[in-house]
Order: sequence, then structure tokens, then C-alpha cells
Amino acid sequence: MQALPRLIVATRNAHKTAEIRAMIGERFEVVDATAFPAFPQIEETGTTFLENARLKAEGISRLIDGWVLSDDSGLEVDALEGAPGVWSSSFGGEEGNHAKNNAKLLAEMAGRSERGARFRCTMVLARGGREVAHFSGTVDGRIVDSLNGSGGFGYDPLFVPLGHDQTFAELGDSVKNTLSHRARALAQVAAFLAEDGNR
Ligand code: IMP
Repeated sequence: MQALPRLIVATRNAHKTAEIRAMIGERFEVVDATAFPAFPQIEETGTTFLENARLKAEGISRLIDGWVLSDDSGLEVDALEGAPGVWSSSFGGEEGNHAKNNAKLLAEMAGRSERGARFRCTMVLARGGREVAHFSGTVDGRIVDSLNGSGGFGYDPLFVPLGHDQTFAELGDSVKNTLSHRARALAQVAAFLAEDGNR
């Protein structure tokens, strides 16, 4: 049996890796930055998802051979003029603290009737320190007024995707992975690698 092609995901976020692996793990050997403890933490100094995704993919692909994929993603809330956006992971004041992020979002949305929002995911594929291609996926939905469900991560307990009446955290990964921003970006990545990956 032929070995699967390796895809290195430039993240230490175990949730992102698990979702990506669940979606394309039959076609690629998905490993992330936790397999390479010596890799530096890449500073996300960009002001757009694409800039940050590029920093992560190019930064890691300078250090290792093969395809490197990054994911920069976040939640854009209409009533908050697109916030937290690129700053989704530190919205509540502490990087990666999902409980604080959700508490801040609930407080900001209290009493507002406009509930529209979307998740956005930008992915960059890089090789040899250079971006080869980038892809983007979104999923529209609305913000609910209390935490619901225990699946997923981040803002999932507060986000109900269009066409559903439960949050991503209630729907669980099997549903989330068919329609999420990450699923939509990753489908394009997989198609690109299938077409052009051997160039
Ligand atoms: P990044 O690591 O800079 O891309 O920040 C991603 C942040 O966006 C996460 O920490 C979450 O707050 C939020 N986020 C991205 N994707 C998702 C998702 O699929 N569900 C819930 N929150 C997400």
C-alpha cells in the first residue's frame, strides 16, 4: 500500500487539527506543529486572515520540506461591525481563552436584535517558504443569547448556522464538518492538491 502524502498543518490548536484530520485524514497524513516541538511560535502580526495565514504557512514551510497548510479563522458579527474578526482568539482579553471570549460576546450582544454573523476561514498552502495558493470559506448564521452544547470549540456554543436551529456545539463535528467555514476552505485545498499537488 502506498503511503499517504503528508500535510503539515501550521497550528498547535488541537481542535483545528482534529477537524482537518476528520475531513481529509483518509487522503493525507495530517500532522501539526505539536509533532515538531522545536518549531517557533509564529507571531500573528497581520491585520487580515490572509496575512496571518501567510505568516504561519510560510514561516513553518521555511523549516520543513513538503506541503504546509495554515488556517486563520474567526467570527465576524454584523452588529459589532465585523468584530471580533481577526482578533477572535483574544476577544475576551486573554489569548485562546474561549470561556472569556464567549462571555464577552454574550455581553456585547445583550439586548441587540441584529444577530447575523459568519465564521470565516482562510487557508494558505506553502512550500519552501513561499505561498503557493490560498483559499477561503465562510458559513453564515446567527448568534444566540446563551451557551448551548458541548461539542466543537471556541464560539461554537453561540453560533447557529443558517438552515439549522442548533449551535455548532449541539450539532457536533459530524454535521459541523459538512458545512463549516473550515470544511469549505479545506475542500478547495484538497481539490487543489489532487489537481496540482504533484507539480
Ligand atoms: P486563530 O488561531 O488566530 O486562527 O484564531 C481562531 C479563533 O477564531 C479561535 O480561537 C476561535 O475563537 C475562533 N474560531 C475559529 N474557528 C472556529 C470554529 O470553528 N468554531 C468556533 N470558533 C472558531
